Amino acid sequence: MRERDTIIPCNFQYSKPKPFFPRRKTRQIKIGEVAIGGGAPIVVQSMTKTDTRDIERTVSQIKKLEQEGCEIVRLAVPDREAVKALGEIKKQVSLPLVADIHFDYRLAIACLKKGVDALRINPGNIGSREKVREVVRAAKDRAVPIRIGVNSGSLEKGLLRKYGKASPEAMVESALRHVRILEDMDFPLIKISLKASDVMRTVEAYKIMADKVDYPFHAGITESGSLIPGSVKSSVGLSMLLNLGLADTIRVSLTAPPEEEVRVGFLILSSLGLRFRGPNIISCPICARCEVDLLKIVTEIEKRLSSAKDYIDVAIMGCMVNGPGEAKEADIGVACGRGVGVLFKKGRVYRRLKEQEIIPEFVKEVKKLVGV
Ligand code: SF4
Repeated sequence: MRERDTIIPCNFQYSKPKPFFPRRKTRQIKIGEVAIGGGAPIVVQSMTKTDTRDIERTVSQIKKLEQEGCEIVRLAVPDREAVKALGEIKKQVSLPLVADIHFDYRLAIACLKKGVDALRINPGNIGSREKVREVVRAAKDRAVPIRIGVNSGSLEKGLLRKYGKASPEAMVESALRHVRILEDMDFPLIKISLKASDVMRTVEAYKIMADKVDYPFHAGITESGSLIPGSVKSSVGLSMLLNLGLADTIRVSLTAPPEEEVRVGFLILSSLGLRFRGPNIISCPICARCEVDLLKIVTEIEKRLSSAKDYIDVAIMGCMVNGPGEAKEADIGVACGRGVGVLFKKGRVYRRLKEQEIIPEFVKEVKKLVGV
């Protein structure tokens, strides 16, 4: 038997995937012009990692996030100076901004006056009913939604005593307490998040909550870690939630630049067939048959196509044994061999490239298809 007959071909699936479950039916709210829930596309959001008081750096980070496709940005607002900066930042960016505030109701009201598009604040943590009422009144006047965000790490002591730990049930009860405060004040523009730093607890909490309210969910695995471990943990957790139809906005929380959070967020959505942004790069894992520097070729092509927004299947394969079969299946592909690359378009050989032409010419051909 010849060597090529012994190779088991890789079975890549090139057709766009489809999620297993329908989306949970929710009310719809709007953060700025971005619709959330109620059948709207799942929204990718992130959070700035600059000091909000540093207007220039924060604006620059928000603009970078926008280029990556981010649709909503959250900023921590720890004090009055940050509120003042937020007002300036708001004038210089077009993405909707969410002010993240802990405890101080006056900061929440000041942010609303600065034109912020949403608040993340837990009403049960800001003191007297009158203080909550003031915030709610100001949010209602401006039709600004409030996200109730429960984190397993900061649950109320009473709930920890009642449940013995930060269990999914304890997280849900905490969120419901905050929800009820807003409902009692006739405030319906609510979004909920229930984040734990481990996958199963997070998923369970959302599953329980889904039976109790019809407000949209913001989903994510909190404090999930650095780029690779955090992306894996977030992908697993968000995939479970998305496949159950339990996420309306997502954030991948990484100890990494926020643009990476957005990139990973879209990759998760496109892997599940929920939203598509940019080329889907299919590349082989490299083996002893590879006769080119495929790692360099793939890395460089990915970098040069990073601004492309349209979805297209792009295959970059390392040899002439398995490569052509896989490259043919994609919208555009290249199978590399010793000193050459055979370029396929829509299943047919289109061009032969010299090794040094592979990167620039392949990128040029992809760009023609996606109109960059
Ligand atoms: Fe598969 Fe790549 Fe090895 Fe070729 S070089 S057999 S495409 S892993």
